[in-house]
Amino acid sequence: MAIIPINMQEGKIAQNSEMIVGIDLGTTNSLVAYMNGDQPQIIKDPIQGTALVPSIIHFAENGDVTVGNEAKKYLIEDPKNTIFSVKRLMGKAFGDVQSFKNILGYQIIDDDTESLVKIRVKDKFYSPIELSALILKELKERAETVLQTEISKVVITVPAYFNDTQRQATRDAGKLAGLDVLRIINEPTAASLVYGFGVESPEDAEQEAPKKVAVYDLGGGTFDISILEIGSGIYEVLSTNGDTFLGGDDFDRAIIDYWLAQKMISETDLVADKSFGQAIRLAAEKTKKVLSENDFFSQEISGHQLRISRKQFNELTQHLVQKTIQLCGNALKDAKLEPQDIEAIVLVGGSTRIPAVKQAVNDFFHAADRKTADSLLKDYINPDETVALGAAIQADILAGNNKDALLLDITPLSLGIETVGGLMDVILPRNSKIPAKVGREYTTSVDGQTKLKVAIYQGERQLVRDNRKLGEFILSGIPPMPAGLPKIEIGFIIDADGVLNVRAREKRSGVEQTVTIRSQYGISEEDMGKMLIDSVRNAKEDMQVKALLEARNEANHILYATDKFINQNIALLSKHEVEQLLTHKKELQKAIQSTDKDLINTQIQALNEFSSPLAHRAMDKTILEAMKGKKV
Ligand code: ADP
Ligand code: MG
Repeated sequence: MAIIPINMQEGKIAQNSEMIVGIDLGTTNSLVAYMNGDQPQIIKDPIQGTALVPSIIHFAENGDVTVGNEAKKYLIEDPKNTIFSVKRLMGKAFGDVQSFKNILGYQIIDDDTESLVKIRVKDKFYSPIELSALILKELKERAETVLQTEISKVVITVPAYFNDTQRQATRDAGKLAGLDVLRIINEPTAASLVYGFGVESPEDAEQEAPKKVAVYDLGGGTFDISILEIGSGIYEVLSTNGDTFLGGDDFDRAIIDYWLAQKMISETDLVADKSFGQAIRLAAEKTKKVLSENDFFSQEISGHQLRISRKQFNELTQHLVQKTIQLCGNALKDAKLEPQDIEAIVLVGGSTRIPAVKQAVNDFFHAADRKTADSLLKDYINPDETVALGAAIQADILAGNNKDALLLDITPLSLGIETVGGLMDVILPRNSKIPAKVGREYTTSVDGQTKLKVAIYQGERQLVRDNRKLGEFILSGIPPMPAGLPKIEIGFIIDADGVLNVRAREKRSGVEQTVTIRSQYGISEEDMGKMLIDSVRNAKEDMQVKALLEARNEANHILYATDKFINQNIALLSKHEVEQLLTHKKELQKAIQSTDKDLINTQIQALNEFSSPLAHRAMDKTILEAMKGKKV
């Protein structure tokens, strides 16, 4: 079974010749690339000639949405309506992002539930998926303008440490942008492809021993180090490490701090004049780039003479570089390797253009002492383009143009189960290699629940009613526990013949139930093609229905929790507070009846803002009581 591409225009299964592009959806910058003959090439802005699309989105008062370079200037001018670093929020719940939500200038909503984060812009609520889709759409349009053809199929890269939810969120973003995401690949894998690792012809691959490669990726806000073992087209990630808050931004800040310390600028000026602050920030980034090529920087900006030498810059940022090296050490340790075991180091990310960074990596891996013909350090001229170029190479392999690379068997459509509200939860995405074994943990939604229905579906739509049902069974005998406490693992195991085994197991009690499904291929290629097309065509509506259902689920959950809270703490609440809570409840109940997800979210937020101080008070009181109890 090979990849089944579809032609969106004709609604038919496409021939292999259709263009597939590769996309690097980055935290700071995104890029799109394609295969031009046998060379991967970045698709540049046709007018500006720029390769990078800053991953920034601005929502104007009049409803206009701008993405990329145009949106960058609003970061300081209009921070509340300017979204950046959305990749940090992909597939995350509020609890995961609480520690850094303050550094983002926009509003992230805490609804006190486990559900995924939402971003509030004026009166609308957006998911990170919708926001990423806007960036992807920009890249799609750029590619269509430059290549003069419709682009509907892509390969998108994600960090190696992205979990299932984050990968699925990235797929959904692609779908929402009108793209068929043929595959999600790891950024370090993509970068390695650029240097020809892993794409040897099958004959060579037989003899060649697997190569150990380190991919050092220092971007705008994040640092990732990955150790890979590559052989015969198989990429194994041996270990990953990094720091999600270490990147080029920190180097810029070091320069600003130096200018402040040298009194070339003053803190008061920076704070008082926002556009001056903006100018300085941009100047610092520019300075850093100049210092990658020159020994000295000096320029007058807004009446201030700004100076710094590369030597000074290196001293100021040495601790940052050392931190990355220390993390490289950790990654090697996890992979049980020594620096000498690494056969190639791939440098990725705009910040690896800094000479001191290159030098430090070279030193750490003892590159100079080794007697190899080729340089150990693989640094592409534009390291911020490597990942996108690799994605284009992968896309070309999927398109069937690279005859040497072999494709393994894959699942033709996504497989998943039904969750609350009739939503499809994908457990094994389409185009996954088989055999495969994946699992995900679920829990109960009602106190004392002893049974759980597991319904298995195949397809690409967000609601199970639009997908194909493969089977269902009931896991019974779950010991009664409060909602949320049972740990029910649903495992999907597909063997080499494509037979799917689904197992549900409650981990605390050990009760389990299994079903075998043989019919996942009992579907014609034509129906399969139709299903894929429908999923992309209906992506927007599907996502809207999904967002509404999710908002309702959440609202019901919160109403339930509020009732419970009032009952348990009635003695601690004033009459007025109870009345207020009931009014908020009523408003939320009214909102649930509507089909306006933004209204529901607004009411959820209002109820939470009112109830959370009360909850804290009740908690303090309970703790006090408990302590008193102990003394007796
Ligand atoms: P991400 O992968 O996080 O989206 P990139 O790989 O595009 O980010 O890297 C962006 C970072 O690279 C920015 O901090 C930018 O200032 C930095 N950068 C780009 N060019 C240079 C250069 N010539 N010298 C130093 N840093 C650079
Ligand atoms: Mg990157």
